[in-house]
Amino acid sequence: MESIIVAKFGGSSMADATAMKRSAGVAKNHHANIVVVSATYGTTNKLIKLSELAQSSDWESCEEIIADIREKHLSIAKDLEIENLEEIEGLLNEVETLSRGIFLLRDCSLKAFDAIQSLGERMSSVLFTRALDVEWADQRKVKNFDIRKIMRTDDQFGKASPLIDEIASLSDTHLIDCKYDNLTYVTQGFIGQTEDGHTTTLGRGGSDYSAALIAEGIGADILQIWTDVAGIATTDPRIVPSAKLMNEITFSEAAELATFGAKILHPTTLTPALRKNISVYVGSSYEPNAHGTWIKQSCEESPLIRAMAIRNDQSLLTISTPKMLHTHGFLYEIFKIFNNHKISVDSVTTSEISVALTIDDSTLLNKKLIRELEELATVKVEENLSLVSLIGNNINHTSGLGSRIFKALGDINVRMICLGASRHNFCFLVEEDQAANAVIKLHDHFIGE
Ligand code: ADP
Ligand code: ASP
Ligand code: MG
Repeated sequence: MESIIVAKFGGSSMADATAMKRSAGVAKNHHANIVVVSATYGTTNKLIKLSELAQSSDWESCEEIIADIREKHLSIAKDLEIENLEEIEGLLNEVETLSRGIFLLRDCSLKAFDAIQSLGERMSSVLFTRALDVEWADQRKVKNFDIRKIMRTDDQFGKASPLIDEIASLSDTHLIDCKYDNLTYVTQGFIGQTEDGHTTTLGRGGSDYSAALIAEGIGADILQIWTDVAGIATTDPRIVPSAKLMNEITFSEAAELATFGAKILHPTTLTPALRKNISVYVGSSYEPNAHGTWIKQSCEESPLIRAMAIRNDQSLLTISTPKMLHTHGFLYEIFKIFNNHKISVDSVTTSEISVALTIDDSTLLNKKLIRELEELATVKVEENLSLVSLIGNNINHTSGLGSRIFKALGDINVRMICLGASRHNFCFLVEEDQAANAVIKLHDHFIGE
Protein backbone atom coordinates (compact mmCIF):
# COMPACT_ATOMS: atom_id res chain seq x y z
CA MET A 1 0.00 0.00 0.00
CA GLU A 2 1.21 3.54 -0.78
CA SER A 3 2.28 5.82 2.08
CA ILE A 4 -0.48 8.03 3.45
CA ILE A 5 0.68 11.61 3.03
CA VAL A 6 -0.50 14.92 4.50
CA ALA A 7 1.04 17.87 2.62
CA LYS A 8 0.91 21.39 4.01
CA PHE A 9 1.49 24.49 1.89
CA GLY A 10 2.23 27.79 3.65
CA GLY A 11 1.24 31.30 2.59
CA SER A 12 4.24 31.79 0.30
CA SER A 13 3.31 28.61 -1.59
CA MET A 14 -0.16 30.14 -2.05
CA ALA A 15 0.94 33.62 -3.15
CA ASP A 16 -0.93 33.73 -6.47
CA ALA A 17 -2.37 31.44 -9.14
CA THR A 18 1.10 30.53 -10.44
CA ALA A 19 2.32 29.55 -6.96
CA MET A 20 -0.90 27.59 -6.38
CA LYS A 21 -0.52 25.69 -9.66
CA ARG A 22 3.11 24.92 -8.78
CA SER A 23 2.07 23.68 -5.32
CA ALA A 24 -0.76 21.66 -6.84
CA GLY A 25 1.83 19.97 -9.07
CA VAL A 26 3.87 19.06 -5.99
CA ALA A 27 0.81 17.67 -4.17
CA LYS A 28 -0.09 15.60 -7.23
CA ASN A 29 3.43 14.22 -7.73
CA HIS A 30 3.44 13.00 -4.14
CA HIS A 31 -0.11 11.63 -4.29
CA ALA A 32 -0.96 13.61 -1.14
CA ASN A 33 -4.08 12.22 0.52
CA ILE A 34 -4.82 15.45 2.36
CA VAL A 35 -3.58 18.91 1.48
CA VAL A 36 -3.61 21.52 4.24
CA VAL A 37 -3.33 25.14 3.16
CA SER A 38 -2.57 28.47 4.79
CA ALA A 39 -4.21 31.73 3.78
CA THR A 40 -2.81 33.36 0.64
CA TYR A 41 0.39 35.30 1.32
CA GLY A 42 -0.24 38.36 3.52
CA THR A 43 -3.98 37.79 3.91
CA THR A 44 -3.97 36.92 7.63
CA ASN A 45 -2.06 40.15 8.31
CA LYS A 46 -4.62 42.09 6.27
CA LEU A 47 -7.54 40.53 8.16
CA ILE A 48 -5.87 41.44 11.45
CA LYS A 49 -5.33 45.01 10.24
CA LEU A 50 -8.94 45.14 9.10
CA SER A 51 -10.27 44.16 12.51
CA GLU A 52 -8.06 46.82 14.13
CA LEU A 53 -9.23 49.53 11.74
CA ALA A 54 -12.85 48.49 12.19
CA GLN A 55 -12.52 49.24 15.90
CA SER A 56 -10.68 52.52 15.66
CA SER A 57 -10.87 54.09 12.22
CA ASP A 58 -13.40 55.21 9.59
CA TRP A 59 -15.34 52.79 7.38
CA GLU A 60 -13.53 54.02 4.23
CA SER A 61 -10.20 52.66 5.53
CA CYS A 62 -11.89 49.31 6.18
CA GLU A 63 -13.40 49.34 2.71
CA GLU A 64 -9.96 49.83 1.20
CA ILE A 65 -8.63 46.65 2.81
CA ILE A 66 -11.80 44.71 2.02
CA ALA A 67 -11.48 45.78 -1.64
CA ASP A 68 -7.83 44.73 -1.64
CA ILE A 69 -8.66 41.26 -0.22
CA ARG A 70 -11.56 40.93 -2.67
CA GLU A 71 -9.43 41.93 -5.64
CA LYS A 72 -6.65 39.49 -4.75
CA HIS A 73 -8.94 36.48 -4.32
CA LEU A 74 -11.11 37.22 -7.35
CA SER A 75 -8.04 37.71 -9.49
CA ILE A 76 -6.64 34.30 -8.45
CA ALA A 77 -10.09 32.79 -9.08
CA LYS A 78 -10.06 34.32 -12.56
CA ASP A 79 -6.53 33.05 -13.30
CA LEU A 80 -7.62 29.58 -12.17
CA GLU A 81 -10.66 29.90 -14.45
CA ILE A 82 -13.18 29.25 -11.69
CA GLU A 83 -16.54 29.76 -13.36
CA ASN A 84 -18.87 29.55 -10.39
CA LEU A 85 -17.76 32.30 -7.99
CA GLU A 86 -20.63 31.80 -5.53
CA GLU A 87 -18.52 30.16 -2.82
CA ILE A 88 -15.65 32.64 -2.89
CA GLU A 89 -18.09 35.59 -3.14
CA GLY A 90 -19.95 34.21 -0.11
CA LEU A 91 -16.72 34.17 1.92
CA LEU A 92 -15.73 37.65 0.74
CA ASN A 93 -19.15 38.89 1.81
CA GLU A 94 -18.53 37.29 5.19
CA VAL A 95 -15.31 39.34 5.51
CA GLU A 96 -17.36 42.48 4.89
CA THR A 97 -20.26 41.54 7.20
CA LEU A 98 -17.97 40.62 10.09
CA SER A 99 -15.92 43.80 9.78
CA ARG A 100 -19.12 45.85 9.55
CA GLY A 101 -20.26 44.25 12.82
CA ILE A 102 -16.93 45.05 14.49
CA PHE A 103 -17.11 48.61 13.12
CA LEU A 104 -20.63 49.21 14.43
CA LEU A 105 -19.82 47.82 17.88
CA ARG A 106 -16.34 49.35 17.91
CA ASP A 107 -15.38 46.13 19.60
CA CYS A 108 -13.71 42.94 18.45
CA SER A 109 -13.99 40.07 20.91
CA LEU A 110 -11.41 37.29 20.62
CA LYS A 111 -14.22 35.14 19.25
CA ALA A 112 -14.97 37.64 16.48
CA PHE A 113 -11.25 38.04 15.83
CA ASP A 114 -10.88 34.29 15.23
CA ALA A 115 -13.96 34.26 13.02
CA ILE A 116 -12.56 36.99 10.78
CA GLN A 117 -9.05 35.49 10.65
CA SER A 118 -10.45 32.09 9.67
CA LEU A 119 -11.64 33.54 6.37
CA GLY A 120 -8.10 33.62 4.97
CA GLU A 121 -7.74 29.84 5.09
CA ARG A 122 -11.37 29.24 4.14
CA MET A 123 -10.92 31.30 0.96
CA SER A 124 -7.51 29.95 -0.03
CA SER A 125 -8.70 26.35 0.34
CA VAL A 126 -11.54 26.99 -2.13
CA LEU A 127 -9.05 28.37 -4.64
CA PHE A 128 -6.52 25.60 -4.10
CA THR A 129 -9.17 22.92 -4.51
CA ARG A 130 -9.67 24.19 -8.03
CA ALA A 131 -5.91 24.31 -8.74
CA LEU A 132 -5.48 20.69 -7.60
CA ASP A 133 -8.62 19.52 -9.35
CA VAL A 134 -7.30 20.86 -12.67
CA GLU A 135 -3.93 19.22 -11.99
CA TRP A 136 -5.48 15.79 -11.39
CA ALA A 137 -8.07 16.19 -14.17
CA ASP A 138 -10.19 13.03 -14.34
CA GLN A 139 -7.64 10.82 -12.65
CA ARG A 140 -8.62 11.59 -9.07
CA LYS A 141 -11.42 13.27 -7.14
CA VAL A 142 -10.48 16.44 -5.26
CA LYS A 143 -12.82 17.84 -2.61
CA ASN A 144 -12.71 20.86 -0.32
CA PHE A 145 -13.23 19.80 3.30
CA ASP A 146 -14.20 22.09 6.17
CA ILE A 147 -11.64 21.15 8.83
CA ARG A 148 -13.86 22.57 11.58
CA LYS A 149 -15.84 19.32 11.35
CA ILE A 150 -12.91 17.49 12.95
CA MET A 151 -10.53 20.07 14.47
CA ARG A 152 -12.17 20.19 17.90
CA THR A 153 -10.51 22.68 20.27
CA ASP A 154 -11.10 24.28 23.65
CA ASP A 155 -12.48 27.82 23.75
CA GLN A 156 -9.25 29.71 24.27
CA PHE A 157 -9.87 31.96 21.27
CA GLY A 158 -6.69 33.18 19.59
CA LYS A 159 -4.62 30.24 20.78
CA ALA A 160 -6.97 27.32 21.14
CA SER A 161 -5.72 23.91 22.25
CA PRO A 162 -6.73 20.90 20.16
CA LEU A 163 -8.67 18.07 21.81
CA ILE A 164 -6.64 15.13 20.55
CA ASP A 165 -8.98 12.22 21.27
CA GLU A 166 -11.97 13.94 19.73
CA ILE A 167 -9.97 14.90 16.64
CA ALA A 168 -8.89 11.26 16.24
CA SER A 169 -12.41 9.93 16.44
CA LEU A 170 -13.88 12.66 14.19
CA SER A 171 -11.08 12.05 11.65
CA ASP A 172 -12.09 8.40 11.58
CA THR A 173 -15.66 9.36 10.82
CA HIS A 174 -15.05 12.12 8.28
CA LEU A 175 -11.66 11.67 6.61
CA ILE A 176 -11.18 7.94 6.33
CA ASP A 177 -12.16 7.74 2.64
CA CYS A 178 -9.10 9.74 1.52
CA LYS A 179 -7.00 6.77 2.66
CA TYR A 180 -8.72 4.19 0.51
CA ASP A 181 -10.59 5.95 -2.29
CA ASN A 182 -9.06 7.74 -5.20
CA LEU A 183 -9.68 11.03 -3.46
CA THR A 184 -7.74 14.00 -2.05
CA TYR A 185 -9.16 16.44 0.47
CA VAL A 186 -8.00 20.05 0.43
CA THR A 187 -8.53 21.63 3.81
CA GLN A 188 -7.66 24.62 6.00
CA GLY A 189 -4.79 24.94 8.43
CA PHE A 190 -4.86 27.25 11.46
CA ILE A 191 -8.59 27.01 12.26
CA GLY A 192 -10.72 24.81 14.48
CA GLN A 193 -14.05 24.79 16.26
CA THR A 194 -15.29 24.54 19.83
CA GLU A 195 -17.79 21.92 20.83
CA ASP A 196 -20.60 24.46 20.57
CA GLY A 197 -19.68 25.47 17.04
CA HIS A 198 -17.55 28.61 17.43
CA THR A 199 -14.57 29.04 15.12
CA THR A 200 -11.16 29.15 16.82
CA THR A 201 -7.56 29.56 15.67
CA LEU A 202 -4.43 27.77 16.88
CA GLY A 203 -2.20 30.88 16.97
CA ARG A 204 -0.07 32.55 14.30
CA GLY A 205 1.74 30.12 12.02
CA GLY A 206 -0.58 27.38 13.28
CA SER A 207 -1.16 25.66 9.93
CA ASP A 208 1.93 23.49 10.46
CA TYR A 209 0.40 22.30 13.73
CA SER A 210 -2.97 21.68 12.05
CA ALA A 211 -1.31 19.53 9.41
CA ALA A 212 0.48 17.48 12.08
CA LEU A 213 -2.76 17.00 14.01
CA ILE A 214 -4.54 15.87 10.86
CA ALA A 215 -1.67 13.50 10.05
CA GLU A 216 -2.04 12.07 13.54
CA GLY A 217 -5.84 11.94 13.23
CA ILE A 218 -5.81 9.88 10.03
CA GLY A 219 -2.73 7.81 10.94
CA ALA A 220 -0.58 9.21 8.10
CA ASP A 221 2.91 7.89 7.39
CA ILE A 222 4.43 11.15 6.20
CA LEU A 223 3.85 14.82 6.97
CA GLN A 224 5.25 17.20 4.35
CA ILE A 225 5.70 20.90 5.12
CA TRP A 226 6.14 22.79 1.84
CA THR A 227 7.40 26.34 2.22
CA ASP A 228 9.65 28.90 0.49
CA VAL A 229 13.03 27.49 1.59
CA ALA A 230 14.37 24.09 0.55
CA GLY A 231 14.51 22.72 4.09
CA ILE A 232 15.64 23.67 7.57
CA ALA A 233 18.84 25.70 7.58
CA THR A 234 21.50 26.10 10.24
CA THR A 235 19.84 29.43 11.03
CA ASP A 236 17.33 31.80 9.46
CA PRO A 237 18.79 32.58 6.00
CA ARG A 238 17.41 36.11 6.33
CA ILE A 239 19.93 36.67 9.14
CA VAL A 240 22.83 34.64 7.77
CA PRO A 241 22.49 34.28 3.99
CA SER A 242 25.23 31.62 3.98
CA ALA A 243 23.24 29.41 6.41
CA LYS A 244 23.42 25.79 5.26
CA LEU A 245 20.42 23.61 4.50
CA MET A 246 20.44 20.39 6.50
CA ASN A 247 19.56 17.02 4.98
CA GLU A 248 18.41 15.72 8.34
CA ILE A 249 17.82 16.79 11.92
CA THR A 250 16.46 14.91 14.94
CA PHE A 251 12.98 15.51 16.37
CA SER A 252 14.51 16.80 19.62
CA GLU A 253 16.74 19.30 17.87
CA ALA A 254 14.01 20.47 15.46
CA ALA A 255 11.56 20.86 18.35
CA GLU A 256 14.07 23.03 20.25
CA LEU A 257 14.68 25.07 17.09
CA ALA A 258 10.96 25.66 16.57
CA THR A 259 10.28 26.43 20.24
CA PHE A 260 13.17 28.87 20.35
CA GLY A 261 11.96 30.94 17.45
CA ALA A 262 12.76 29.38 14.05
CA LYS A 263 9.72 30.46 12.05
CA ILE A 264 10.13 27.57 9.64
CA LEU A 265 8.02 25.37 11.96
CA HIS A 266 5.26 26.24 14.43
CA PRO A 267 6.59 25.21 17.88
CA THR A 268 4.07 22.44 18.51
CA THR A 269 4.18 20.87 15.04
CA LEU A 270 6.36 17.96 16.04
CA THR A 271 4.41 16.82 19.10
CA PRO A 272 1.72 14.88 17.17
CA ALA A 273 4.33 13.53 14.74
CA LEU A 274 6.43 12.22 17.62
CA ARG A 275 3.39 10.71 19.35
CA LYS A 276 2.53 8.70 16.26
CA ASN A 277 6.01 8.23 14.81
CA ILE A 278 5.15 10.09 11.60
CA SER A 279 8.10 11.04 9.36
CA VAL A 280 8.32 14.77 8.75
CA TYR A 281 9.78 16.40 5.67
CA VAL A 282 10.39 20.12 5.07
CA GLY A 283 10.91 21.28 1.49
CA SER A 284 10.33 24.13 -0.94
CA SER A 285 7.33 24.20 -3.26
CA TYR A 286 9.50 26.42 -5.46
CA GLU A 287 12.28 23.82 -5.73
CA PRO A 288 10.48 20.54 -5.09
CA ASN A 289 13.39 18.50 -6.42
CA ALA A 290 15.91 19.93 -3.96
CA HIS A 291 16.84 17.53 -1.15
CA GLY A 292 14.86 19.19 1.67
CA THR A 293 15.18 18.20 5.34
CA TRP A 294 13.95 14.99 6.97
CA ILE A 295 13.19 15.17 10.68
CA LYS A 296 14.06 11.82 12.22
CA GLN A 297 14.28 9.96 15.51
CA SER A 298 18.03 9.74 15.09
CA CYS A 299 20.54 11.06 12.55
CA GLU A 300 23.84 9.74 11.24
CA GLU A 301 25.79 12.64 12.73
CA SER A 302 25.29 14.35 16.10
CA PRO A 303 27.24 17.61 15.90
CA LEU A 304 27.80 19.63 19.05
CA ILE A 305 26.13 22.66 17.43
CA ARG A 306 23.78 21.94 14.55
CA ALA A 307 21.74 25.13 14.34
CA MET A 308 20.77 28.39 16.05
CA ALA A 309 17.67 30.54 16.43
CA ILE A 310 16.37 33.82 17.79
CA ARG A 311 13.17 34.32 19.72
CA ASN A 312 12.26 38.00 19.85
CA ASP A 313 9.82 39.97 22.01
CA GLN A 314 10.96 38.49 25.29
CA SER A 315 10.56 40.06 28.72
CA LEU A 316 12.73 39.20 31.68
CA LEU A 317 10.95 39.12 35.03
CA THR A 318 13.15 39.11 38.08
CA ILE A 319 11.11 38.12 41.11
CA SER A 320 12.95 38.64 44.39
CA THR A 321 12.22 38.42 48.08
CA PRO A 322 14.27 37.57 51.17
CA LYS A 323 11.35 35.35 52.16
CA MET A 324 12.78 32.78 49.71
CA LEU A 325 15.84 32.26 51.90
CA HIS A 326 15.83 28.75 53.40
CA THR A 327 12.12 28.19 52.79
CA HIS A 328 10.29 25.83 50.48
CA GLY A 329 7.27 26.17 48.24
CA PHE A 330 8.11 29.62 46.91
CA LEU A 331 8.70 28.54 43.31
CA TYR A 332 5.48 26.56 43.52
CA GLU A 333 3.57 29.73 44.51
CA ILE A 334 5.07 31.68 41.63
CA PHE A 335 4.46 29.06 38.98
CA LYS A 336 0.92 28.52 40.25
CA ILE A 337 0.20 32.11 39.23
CA PHE A 338 1.59 31.54 35.72
CA ASN A 339 -0.41 28.33 35.51
CA ASN A 340 -3.64 30.08 36.56
CA HIS A 341 -3.11 32.62 33.77
CA LYS A 342 -2.19 29.86 31.27
CA ILE A 343 1.09 31.65 30.57
CA SER A 344 4.08 29.71 29.41
CA VAL A 345 7.51 30.51 30.80
CA ASP A 346 10.34 29.96 28.34
CA SER A 347 13.44 29.86 30.51
CA VAL A 348 14.24 30.14 34.18
CA THR A 349 17.22 30.68 36.46
CA THR A 350 17.16 30.95 40.23
CA SER A 351 19.36 32.20 43.05
CA GLU A 352 18.80 31.97 46.79
CA ILE A 353 16.41 34.94 46.93
CA SER A 354 15.30 35.51 43.37
CA VAL A 355 13.97 33.85 40.26
CA ALA A 356 14.55 35.26 36.78
CA LEU A 357 12.33 34.03 33.98
CA THR A 358 11.39 34.96 30.45
CA ILE A 359 7.93 35.34 28.95
CA ASP A 360 6.59 36.83 25.71
CA ASP A 361 6.37 40.64 25.83
CA SER A 362 2.67 40.56 24.97
CA THR A 363 2.00 38.68 28.22
CA LEU A 364 2.74 41.90 30.10
CA LEU A 365 -0.58 43.27 28.86
CA ASN A 366 -1.96 41.01 31.57
CA LYS A 367 -1.67 43.50 34.45
CA LYS A 368 -3.34 41.10 36.87
CA LEU A 369 -0.44 38.65 36.52
CA ILE A 370 2.10 41.25 37.64
CA ARG A 371 -0.15 42.40 40.51
CA GLU A 372 -0.47 38.83 41.77
CA LEU A 373 3.29 38.27 41.57
CA GLU A 374 3.86 41.53 43.43
CA GLU A 375 1.78 40.22 46.31
CA LEU A 376 4.56 37.62 46.79
CA ALA A 377 7.72 39.54 45.95
CA THR A 378 9.35 42.49 44.22
CA VAL A 379 9.03 42.20 40.44
CA LYS A 380 11.44 43.87 38.02
CA VAL A 381 10.50 43.83 34.34
CA GLU A 382 12.89 44.29 31.42
CA GLU A 383 11.38 44.30 27.92
CA ASN A 384 12.51 44.08 24.28
CA LEU A 385 14.97 41.27 24.78
CA SER A 386 15.72 38.26 22.58
CA LEU A 387 16.58 34.70 23.42
CA VAL A 388 19.42 33.40 21.29
CA SER A 389 19.80 29.65 21.32
CA LEU A 390 22.33 27.17 20.09
CA ILE A 391 20.91 23.76 19.30
CA GLY A 392 22.90 20.55 19.06
CA ASN A 393 23.98 17.53 21.06
CA ASN A 394 25.62 16.86 24.38
CA ILE A 395 25.67 20.58 25.02
CA ASN A 396 25.42 20.26 28.80
CA HIS A 397 28.34 17.85 28.99
CA THR A 398 30.91 19.49 26.75
CA SER A 399 33.68 21.27 28.56
CA GLY A 400 34.94 24.52 27.11
CA LEU A 401 31.74 25.25 25.18
CA GLY A 402 30.81 28.25 27.37
CA SER A 403 34.15 29.91 26.85
CA ARG A 404 33.96 29.37 23.07
CA ILE A 405 30.50 30.94 23.00
CA PHE A 406 31.50 33.99 25.04
CA LYS A 407 34.69 34.47 23.09
CA ALA A 408 32.73 34.41 19.84
CA LEU A 409 30.21 36.91 21.24
CA GLY A 410 32.95 39.44 22.02
CA ASP A 411 31.50 42.54 23.67
CA ILE A 412 27.79 41.62 23.28
CA ASN A 413 26.22 41.93 26.70
CA VAL A 414 24.51 38.74 27.90
CA ARG A 415 21.63 39.30 30.34
CA MET A 416 20.80 35.73 31.40
CA ILE A 417 21.99 32.22 30.56
CA CYS A 418 20.15 28.91 30.58
CA LEU A 419 22.23 25.78 30.40
CA GLY A 420 21.92 22.37 31.90
CA ALA A 421 18.26 21.49 31.45
CA SER A 422 18.64 20.10 27.96
CA ARG A 423 21.36 18.21 26.14
CA HIS A 424 20.21 19.99 23.03
CA ASN A 425 20.07 23.65 23.97
CA PHE A 426 22.18 26.51 25.28
CA CYS A 427 20.31 29.79 25.35
CA PHE A 428 20.90 33.28 26.59
CA LEU A 429 19.19 36.68 26.58
CA VAL A 430 20.46 39.78 24.83
CA GLU A 431 19.03 43.17 23.88
CA GLU A 432 16.80 42.70 20.82
CA ASP A 433 19.00 44.88 18.60
CA GLN A 434 22.06 42.73 19.38
CA ALA A 435 20.46 39.35 18.64
CA ALA A 436 21.14 39.16 14.89
CA ASN A 437 24.73 40.18 15.46
CA ALA A 438 25.11 37.49 18.12
CA VAL A 439 23.85 34.82 15.70
CA ILE A 440 26.09 36.05 12.89
CA LYS A 441 29.12 35.76 15.17
CA LEU A 442 28.14 32.35 16.57
CA HIS A 443 27.28 30.97 13.14
CA ASP A 444 30.61 32.13 11.83
CA HIS A 445 32.42 30.45 14.74
CA PHE A 446 30.53 27.14 14.99
CA ILE A 447 29.27 26.49 11.46
CA GLY A 448 31.28 28.77 9.20
CA GLU A 449 30.86 29.61 5.55
P1 ADP B 1 5.09 29.41 5.39
O1 ADP B 1 4.34 30.57 4.87
O2 ADP B 1 5.41 28.39 4.34
O3 ADP B 1 4.51 28.81 6.63
P2 ADP B 1 7.07 30.75 7.04
O4 ADP B 1 7.36 32.15 6.61
O5 ADP B 1 6.17 30.56 8.20
O6 ADP B 1 6.54 29.96 5.75
O7 ADP B 1 8.43 29.96 7.32
C1 ADP B 1 9.46 29.95 6.35
C2 ADP B 1 10.52 30.99 6.71
O8 ADP B 1 11.12 30.62 7.95
C3 ADP B 1 11.67 31.06 5.76
O9 ADP B 1 11.41 31.90 4.67
C4 ADP B 1 12.81 31.59 6.63
O10 ADP B 1 12.99 32.96 6.48
C5 ADP B 1 12.33 31.35 8.06
N1 ADP B 1 13.28 30.58 8.87
C6 ADP B 1 13.58 30.84 10.17
N2 ADP B 1 14.49 29.99 10.63
C7 ADP B 1 14.79 29.14 9.62
C8 ADP B 1 15.66 28.02 9.50
N3 ADP B 1 16.41 27.60 10.52
N4 ADP B 1 15.70 27.38 8.31
C9 ADP B 1 14.96 27.79 7.27
N5 ADP B 1 14.10 28.85 7.34
C10 ADP B 1 14.02 29.52 8.48
N1 ASP C 1 -2.42 32.05 8.08
C1 ASP C 1 -1.96 31.89 9.45
C2 ASP C 1 -0.86 32.90 9.75
O1 ASP C 1 -0.46 33.65 8.88
C3 ASP C 1 -1.54 30.49 9.77
C4 ASP C 1 -0.34 29.97 8.98
O2 ASP C 1 -0.03 30.51 7.91
O3 ASP C 1 0.27 29.00 9.43
O4 ASP C 1 -0.44 32.96 10.87
MG1 MG D 1 4.67 29.18 8.74
